[in-house]
Amino acid sequence: MKVSDRQRKMAPEPLLLITIDGPAGAGKTTVSKMLARELGYRYLDTGALYRAVAYEVRAADISPDDDPGLCDVCGTLQLSVEENRLVSNGVDITGRIRSPEITMLASAVSAHPMVRQALLDIQREIGRTRGLVAEGRDMGTVVFPEADLKFFLDATVRQRAFRRFEQYGKENNQSLEQIEQDIRSRDENDSSRDIAPLRPAGDAVIIDSTAIIARQVVALMMARVRKGRDAK
Ligand code: C5P
Repeated sequence: MKVSDRQRKMAPEPLLLITIDGPAGAGKTTVSKMLARELGYRYLDTGALYRAVAYEVRAADISPDDDPGLCDVCGTLQLSVEENRLVSNGVDITGRIRSPEITMLASAVSAHPMVRQALLDIQREIGRTRGLVAEGRDMGTVVFPEADLKFFLDATVRQRAFRRFEQYGKENNQSLEQIEQDIRSRDENDSSRDIAPLRPAGDAVIIDSTAIIARQVVALMMARVRKGRDAK
């Protein structure tokens, strides 16, 4: 039996799992939050989880290359993400993970297979319930290869650095040049690591946000979401 347009309209919309990957400063967070709000979905910032590991590594005063130390940190890590608050080992660290130091430390610890493995289960558990927008570097390739819709958001390094400068530059006392340098180095770390390197999934929709604002990116994504829902 063919489903009529009227019946289709009355049926509840299928809940999707949507992934948004891309390099630092491409606008993933802004766009992911906007898309999640528009759809009434939950939002998962996986970069925050790597930042939490970095925070605990810093608190334990160990080097990001100290494997036994990292193993201890990962073995005892209790993370929860609720209503956009990040709680690590019982402490709300939401406001403590955006400093330049934690940012670069997150990039370093994220190359360790042990850290990625420890965070994999947490991410998949959160993704078990559909109706989620998950942002990161390996959402579409490793964590949720079965996602309904995958996006890869990119922009030029200069534009990405400029956005970060506008967002955090003053409060962190960083120049545009410093931020651009940090972004280049994080791009290099993320793209060249052996495990889960940053790259678009084969079935990802690639969007270049260099010359368009967040609202336009979300409009492009919503057009794909509608198509994806119709195909379900
Ligand atoms: O997205 P955000 O800049 O907060 O991520 C911090 C760091 O965590 C990134 O530089 C990257 O090295 C790492 N990361 C990752 N995989 C993810 C999310 C973040 O390796 N899915």
